[in-house]
Amino acid sequence: MPTKGYIARENVVCFHTYEPLPVVLCKGKGSWLWDIEGKKYLDMLTAYSAVSFGHSHPRLVKVLNHQAETLALPSRAFFTDQLAPMLEKACALSGLDMGIPLNTGVEAVEVAVKVARRWGYEVKGIPENKAEIIVAENNFHGRTTTAISFSTESSYKKDFGPFTPGFKAIPFGDAKALERAITPHTCAFLVEPIQGEAGIIVPPKGYLKEVRQICTKNNVLLILDEVQSGLGRTGKYFAFQHEGIQPDGLTLGKALGGGLLPVSLFLGRREITSLMTPGSHGSTFGGNPLGCAVAYEALSLLVEEKLDQRSAELGAYMLERLKKITSPFIKEVRGLGLWAGVELHKNHITARKVCVKMSEKGVLTKDTHGTVIRFAPPLNVTQEELDFGIDVFEEVLKEIERKS
Ligand SMILES: *Cc1c(COP(=O)(O)O)cnc(C)c1O
Repeated sequence: MPTKGYIARENVVCFHTYEPLPVVLCKGKGSWLWDIEGKKYLDMLTAYSAVSFGHSHPRLVKVLNHQAETLALPSRAFFTDQLAPMLEKACALSGLDMGIPLNTGVEAVEVAVKVARRWGYEVKGIPENKAEIIVAENNFHGRTTTAISFSTESSYKKDFGPFTPGFKAIPFGDAKALERAITPHTCAFLVEPIQGEAGIIVPPKGYLKEVRQICTKNNVLLILDEVQSGLGRTGKYFAFQHEGIQPDGLTLGKALGGGLLPVSLFLGRREITSLMTPGSHGSTFGGNPLGCAVAYEALSLLVEEKLDQRSAELGAYMLERLKKITSPFIKEVRGLGLWAGVELHKNHITARKVCVKMSEKGVLTKDTHGTVIRFAPPLNVTQEELDFGIDVFEEVLKEIERKS
């Protein structure tokens, strides 16, 4: 059987660092994916929010093709005509001054750590090698050895030490804990406005505002990791806009590449970003014209198609529908914009089992931490598509209930 064959082959030659659902995909268009047997699925995961514009959006594919035929990669050894327009657009949207173009989300986080430390030494006057960065428990900032050094998840860290020092984790959503954790050596607080991989954890209202005030009062940088929450996912261009604040630094990735390429950014206030001098960071592929052209078009689409507003409106509808589902398995439904997590009670059914059953009925999503099912459709999903996805979820819960 072809599906089993591909799975077996992949399992032989590819690291087992994921536990994929047993479908073998070969095609995508808009909100839909197809497997090699021709079965069609609604995509409610969108590659962990990297496919916010749907699969192979015609405008993005057109720009990709055109730029691929024009100039793809001359390196940062030279100026190009694609980098400034993309950064100007990202700065204008975010209200920040400068950015460094990178490829993956975790690279932007690595730069955030470097920039924060450099600012700590050169501006704040922290003694050499003493800079501390505060992070939140259950954070997800990527998989490099430094990013996992400040993770609190044991499966991300097991047998990968020794770890990078200089980080301190505090409970997420607790502004008072931040105030207590700050010392004269603290250079930054690095946090996701909504914790994605932890299970779409939405902090109490006013948290970011309070965090902003505490950081300002204590001369500590506020760096927001919006690799997943940014670019319309929560119903605004950036999650920080829900509380009317401005961060000092911001990481973007995932959807920035239009679901076609890895493109990420660290953006910051000029006072901080200008501390990065020639030689302090680099990336062979970072800022390549191909990625810049696609990212520019992705940002344009976000604005022109008002996908932030769509996300707010359809997201409110999705959350309301999810909250209306009555099932003994559901512990909590939470989310913002087109981004929701349904947490199941432990020890009844696993979130994975629900995801497998949903896939059999034509809806793809993935659990996180065994108990949370995430819903992150494309931001241009139709209401009919969304209804189909939620209907299937509801049906699957009812079926499991009947059989248990
Ligand atoms: C996905 C993610 C990252 C890492 O991005 P990669 O492109 O996988 O390196 C970092 N931070 C957050 C909040 C993420 O969701």
